[in-house]
Amino acid sequence: MKKIAFLFVIAGLYSCNSTKPASENNNVDLTKYEKIITASDLKKHLYIIASDEMEGRETGSEGQKKAGKYMIEQYQKNAISYPKGADSFYQPIPASYLNAKRNLNLQDSENIWAYIEGNEKPNEVVVISAHYDHVGVKNGEVYNGADDDGSGTVALLEIAKAFAKAKKDGNGPKRSILFLHVTGEEHGLHGSRYYSEHPLFPLENTVADVNIDMIGRRDVEHANTNNYVYVIGANRLSSDLHNIVVNQNEKYTHLNLDFKFNEPNDPNRFYERSDHYNFAKHGIPSVFLFNGVHADYHKSTDTPDKIEYDALEKRAQLAFAVVWELANRENRLVIDKNN
Ligand SMILES: [Zn+2]
Repeated sequence: MKKIAFLFVIAGLYSCNSTKPASENNNVDLTKYEKIITASDLKKHLYIIASDEMEGRETGSEGQKKAGKYMIEQYQKNAISYPKGADSFYQPIPASYLNAKRNLNLQDSENIWAYIEGNEKPNEVVVISAHYDHVGVKNGEVYNGADDDGSGTVALLEIAKAFAKAKKDGNGPKRSILFLHVTGEEHGLHGSRYYSEHPLFPLENTVADVNIDMIGRRDVEHANTNNYVYVIGANRLSSDLHNIVVNQNEKYTHLNLDFKFNEPNDPNRFYERSDHYNFAKHGIPSVFLFNGVHADYHKSTDTPDKIEYDALEKRAQLAFAVVWELANRENRLVIDKNN
């Protein structure tokens, strides 16, 4: 999650209270595959992604590249390839692009992508995104970024594994799924903006973005339970997307969905502060799953021992169930809002 220096209020146009059911066109029971996403596997990956060895994964740093290699190895272990049309797991982003708005002397960096092709509508793509950069080392202290956004990073690895297993069983998604690990988020959502300006798949064929940024902790508003997730942005462009999140959660994950930060006049402006926004601004329905901020946010104390792995598992499973429906439903999401 990107920090912002100042706040201002935006005027909102919409609030959502629609409860129409999402379409039900996919008869395969996803529970079998959802269970592939486990707290123990997420923990195993996160202790590596957020280890001191990765040096806080500063954009363009050696530590970030090391984390990227580990991620790619996981995809290869699960026989998941890079996307059709690409020649590797990397989308290179030159330093000049990363430093264009504010020169922080960032080095060349890369988005990392993996891909599962759809069986019936391979040209329609569902994106699931999480940033794998964090803020590096400051005054000799490693900023591990376990929650921000190691949690989303490892969630993508496990969600991809679950879809790969489904495909192996003959239950692959109808639409294609792009697993997009973006860089440069902490310095201004650079990696996702770069993707949106240099998309591998045409944006008009990009059905939705499900973005995960910080899903391993709880905030003070939920001191007594971690069984919740903030849902931000789902209804801004598409009532369908909102309904899918609500229905999949009701059926499978039973989290308390908190829409507080989705209020258009919320002063935190979280809707504009993570990578889904670079899809939403191009008119692509996008949803951001988030646990809120906490005392260790953007501190060297955001470490993997503080992650609540049961909550991370459930929230990753919700993202999986949402992507499953987006990839398998008969019709594309209807865009019926313009916010
Ligand atoms: Zn952050």
